[in-house]
Amino acid sequence: MNDVLIVGGGPVGLLLAGELRLAGADPLVLEAADGSVRRKRSFGLRGINGRTSQSLRLRGLTEVLREAQSAMFDALAVKGEADDTDVARGLLHQMKRNRARGHFGGLPLIEEESEVRPGAAGGFILEQPVLERILADWAGGLGVRIRTNSEVVDIVQEDSAVRAVLADGRTERAAYLVGCDGGRSVVRKRSGIAFPGTDATMTGRIASAELADPGAVRSSMHGPGGLVNLSLVPGEISTIEFDGGPGDRDAPLTAAEMQASIRRAGGIDVTVTRLDDGIRYSDNTRQAVTYRQGRVLLAGDSAHVHSPIGGQGLNLGLQDAMNLGWKLGLVVRGAAPESLLDTYTAERHPVGERVLRNTRAQVALMRPGPQGAALREVLAETLEIPAAKRHFIAMANGVDVDYAPDSGHPLVGRFAPVPVMSEDGRALLVGGSEEIRAAVNGRVRVVEDDVDPDAFLVRPDGYVAWAASDGGTTGLSEALELVAGPGGTRV
Ligand SMILES: Cc1cc2nc3c(=O)[nH]c(=O)nc-3n(C[C@H](O)[C@H](O)[C@H](O)COP(=O)(O)OP(=O)(O)OC[C@H]3O[C@@H](n4cnc5c(N)ncnc54)[C@H](O)[C@@H]3O)c2cc1C
Repeated sequence: MNDVLIVGGGPVGLLLAGELRLAGADPLVLEAADGSVRRKRSFGLRGINGRTSQSLRLRGLTEVLREAQSAMFDALAVKGEADDTDVARGLLHQMKRNRARGHFGGLPLIEEESEVRPGAAGGFILEQPVLERILADWAGGLGVRIRTNSEVVDIVQEDSAVRAVLADGRTERAAYLVGCDGGRSVVRKRSGIAFPGTDATMTGRIASAELADPGAVRSSMHGPGGLVNLSLVPGEISTIEFDGGPGDRDAPLTAAEMQASIRRAGGIDVTVTRLDDGIRYSDNTRQAVTYRQGRVLLAGDSAHVHSPIGGQGLNLGLQDAMNLGWKLGLVVRGAAPESLLDTYTAERHPVGERVLRNTRAQVALMRPGPQGAALREVLAETLEIPAAKRHFIAMANGVDVDYAPDSGHPLVGRFAPVPVMSEDGRALLVGGSEEIRAAVNGRVRVVEDDVDPDAFLVRPDGYVAWAASDGGTTGLSEALELVAGPGGTRV
């Protein structure tokens, strides 16, 4: 029997698989697609936000991400000065200078030179297949088993195991199963986990297309029916229309449809002469009521869907994987009680709820008409206030997450306040007196820190589980048991 089955080898499934390996479990990833297929849903670029960059830095992946991003900048020819009228390319230039911090409903979040902290984990921007390749190489290097052409069509929970039924009739059993199978998750549906939320109000289209008059479209053109935008990738055009949502999202996007959409949304008389590829998306916004039901768990888009405006879904899902990996690893190894898994929903569901809220707000911000325009102007003014801008940057980058707001210590529940590395996924003790180090007794790695007066214990996912400013050890042994299992394990 397997330790854990992961259904779906997208970015979230791959990161979770690697995290489980680091935590000492042996997961099997079941991926429906053929490994060589470039999946349509991966169209366009993906922003890796500040918190996800910190998580991937923890695992030593910064350099490979930076190289991939540089290659992309070269390919997109991001050179010289940005043209002020081109919002998308302006953002790329600011990314290159590590000043861009994403956008909120199309309003760029840019730090001034003086606001950029040295060594700050800025974000990355990559094509999703490139990120997936990086994660697949990393997980493969850790010994993760990935089986492609393995579509799961049903799951059955038994007393001491869970069974996945594949399309070809094969079955696989495991102690736990995690659905990382995207927004239309079979795992979520077959396990009967409710997925309440709000229906689509808009249709987004992104196409790789050629126009008879390329100069007719600029980036961020708000028109009578919505928005027309030039994407960061030359030749990619996107539209947003507030039309009640796409009917059949999977029907092929045609040049005629894209032309009609640009005309309606932007009020521009254009002719689309060629369309190579394209997708539709919506603001269908839903969240699973629980991320765990017995031996079945959900992570990534299978647990939450929302509009991609503001670039948050992938980041949210990757953070789910970081949170779940070490916990499920400890439980599978018998080093923690099953109840540790309930902290996964308890910690991640509220974070998901906040992202759903802020993506709904971003959709509202894009509405056409005088009210939408006024809202954008008011918010643009607000973003000139430094504290407000910091708030939006923190929200867009997931760095305001606090898993223990009532802990009584400002560090506990927050991400490690100094850059730390744990390529092998072990928990860390940062700083601390001789007494504290003795109490830890080799169960976690000790990291020197001359700067911070506090001693703190960092969970495998980078969040602080325990901290003391007074040199004391109150609560340390419970926290150690939480992050490293009962005494003696993971030395
Ligand atoms: C246009 C657009 C732009 C976006 N931009 C951003 C951005 O900038 N930043 C950001 O954070 N997010 C962004 N997102 C969202 C992001 O793409 C998703 O949140 C992310 O792909 C979710 O990852 P996942 O692994 O959970 O699911 P998916 O990427 O959907 O992967 C699911 C995997 O499961 C497999 N699978 C599905 N069903 C089965 C089955 N039954 N059996 C076996 N395997 C199965 C699929 O083949 C797939 O490989 C964007 C989305 C869109 C559409």
